[in-house]
Amino acid sequence: MTLLLWDQHTCLPLQTDADIDLLSRYRRTGGVVVSVNAGYAPHSLDDTTRLLRHYRGAVNAHPDLELPRSLEDVETITRAGRIAVVFDLEDCAPLDGDLDNLATFVRLGVRTLLPTYNHANHAGSGCLDATDGGLTAWGRSLVSEMNNVGMVPDGSHCSTRTGLDMCDVSTGPVVYSHSCMRAVWDHPRNITDDQARACAATGGVVGITGVGIFLGPNTPTLEAMTGHLEYAIELVGIDHVGVSTDFSFDFADFNEELARNPHLFDDSYTSWGPIQWMPPETFLGLGQHLRRRGWKTADIKAVLGGNFYRVAQHSWCFR
Ligand SMILES: [Zn+2]
Repeated sequence: MTLLLWDQHTCLPLQTDADIDLLSRYRRTGGVVVSVNAGYAPHSLDDTTRLLRHYRGAVNAHPDLELPRSLEDVETITRAGRIAVVFDLEDCAPLDGDLDNLATFVRLGVRTLLPTYNHANHAGSGCLDATDGGLTAWGRSLVSEMNNVGMVPDGSHCSTRTGLDMCDVSTGPVVYSHSCMRAVWDHPRNITDDQARACAATGGVVGITGVGIFLGPNTPTLEAMTGHLEYAIELVGIDHVGVSTDFSFDFADFNEELARNPHLFDDSYTSWGPIQWMPPETFLGLGQHLRRRGWKTADIKAVLGGNFYRVAQHSWCFR
């Protein structure tokens, strides 16, 4: 299988000494694009900028990894079987309240941002909030400015209404970088059919993700992922479904984040015991798995990477 594989969200330790070589676990013929998280709700502009500088320096020094400076670069890097690295943010906190910082983050390689991480902030409501007020007026400006600077609005972790409002406001594709389908497994981090339909209507992509507690009863298997993929494709069509791992390379680091920020999570995260993730080695077998299920090559190509590539073509801006 030599098709492009695109992981729209993966998680290195959020530390300025994190070992970037962990990403070598994605190495495969056909190449990979990985979007590495570079900050979330507890992080400031300063924290995130320092983290991005570390990641970027380490990627530049690594023979298998590269920061694409154009979409042609993405093609060249992945065709050579190497790993193209881009970045994403979870929550608007790293903006320090200033929309001008979006352009700064684009220059540092950030391609997607989700406005709210589980709980309300001044952009809008999160998926674990008791009441859902949708996007605020500032949140609407945030989405518009993302459109202007070439960053893709991401509805994962947002409330249902925030996600729907983002699709209303955005003039370009909206994605769900790492969200499974609530009709398949009822979890507050999973999205409704309406959210998936609205995302597809913008030309966007729902990234079915490899987290055990979102796929089912803590079951991060290719079978469970395929169940969500096939449901989503039936609902919104083959052009609007993709994949991500949300893999945490350092489980201890994630558990420390959870312990350090208990207000950001609830029972829906902890009641199944330690969260199980789909490791890159399993994720790399997805294409073979879908082929054995009888999927057509064109469909596998779209879901593995073609659809997220199309969104990038439409939206990304290199400065
Ligand atoms: Zn997340």
